[in-house]
Amino acid sequence: MHKKVYLDNNATTCLDPHVYSIYSKELQESYGNPSSVHTYGQEAKAKLIQAREDIASYFAFRPQEVYFTSTATEALNLLIRGIIGCNYKGHIVTSSVEHPAVFRTIKELEKMGVRVTYLAVGSKGAIDPLELEASLAPDTRLIVIMAANNETGVLSDLPMIAAHAARSNVPLVVDGVAIFGKARFAIHPGISGICFSGHKFHAPKSVGFALVRKGLQVEPQITGGEQERGLRAGTENVPAICALADAVKITQSSLEESLSSMQTLRDSFEKELLSSLTFIRVNGTGPRVVNTSNICFEGIDGEALLMYLDLHGVAASLGSACSSGSLEPSRILLEMGLTRDQALSSLRFSLSRFTTKEEIDYALEVIYSGVKIQRR
Ligand code: PLP
Repeated sequence: MHKKVYLDNNATTCLDPHVYSIYSKELQESYGNPSSVHTYGQEAKAKLIQAREDIASYFAFRPQEVYFTSTATEALNLLIRGIIGCNYKGHIVTSSVEHPAVFRTIKELEKMGVRVTYLAVGSKGAIDPLELEASLAPDTRLIVIMAANNETGVLSDLPMIAAHAARSNVPLVVDGVAIFGKARFAIHPGISGICFSGHKFHAPKSVGFALVRKGLQVEPQITGGEQERGLRAGTENVPAICALADAVKITQSSLEESLSSMQTLRDSFEKELLSSLTFIRVNGTGPRVVNTSNICFEGIDGEALLMYLDLHGVAASLGSACSSGSLEPSRILLEMGLTRDQALSSLRFSLSRFTTKEEIDYALEVIYSGVKIQRR
């Protein structure tokens, strides 16, 4: 029997055992509807209030600035579409390497008539804040930038970007999904809204949140009841929200230890690969979060290597998407200047705070044997 090693934590993570215990307890106990006036409802409401207060305090926001959603995709849609509203005039600035939750949403707005600047990233993998500053126009209504790229882990220069946004008085929405728990970061006052997804930091799936600065004008995208101060209608998933708050707390309180452990393992993984194989390189030359390694195995069929790894119990990922039966190279890697072949030879390995040295050693062993087969 071979081992099982999960190195696809940027896709999703396992539940933290403590988060799981909170989740299952609340699933059984807190099933009241927080909008109901009876005791069941009021008890669930108290849990919801507590979770909101806890999350707000971990990020130094106010409880009224926390909005729970089903996913980060929904939170990003809420902020992007909600700020633009039904007036499809004006200009948005974003990067060319955003996650589809942002990229496709902005493409839709572009079809409706909004003008969009997609800033290039080059081999570094992140935009140049000076180019962002130069792209701002009198009719710019919104800037949307990811804090870290989910495929390469490359960090955006958030302090500079936020400073330009604040100086120009343009709302800045940040996709915070790939940074939380993987780098230290501050939510600069120039950031108007930032979105996170629970399942990327060991909370359940389908629960996320947006932190939205007081005063930002956002139109609701889901209408109905008065939940989330009317901005996101629909009965709140109290057990998942309690689990989410617990996961935020654990992520924050174990941050230094987790960063140090992931960085040590990721760096030694890359060092080992780079010293053993001559035909590889790390994609993304800019500073990165500590858990992500996107490696181009030049001349290797990435899909075949991924399948080989999977057969031997190692889960990694290919940034490529399968569309109409053929494999399309990663849009992000192409934007960074890789050729189609190089992009199709690239795999992403993403660690979590639960990843061990034994797992990394085993993954390396399997990678070497998988590569050897192809280069025979
Ligand atoms: N943004 C980034 C950077 C992501 O990596 C993801 C998910 O992979 C999302 C947004 C969307 O998150 P969710 O699928 O939880 O909506």
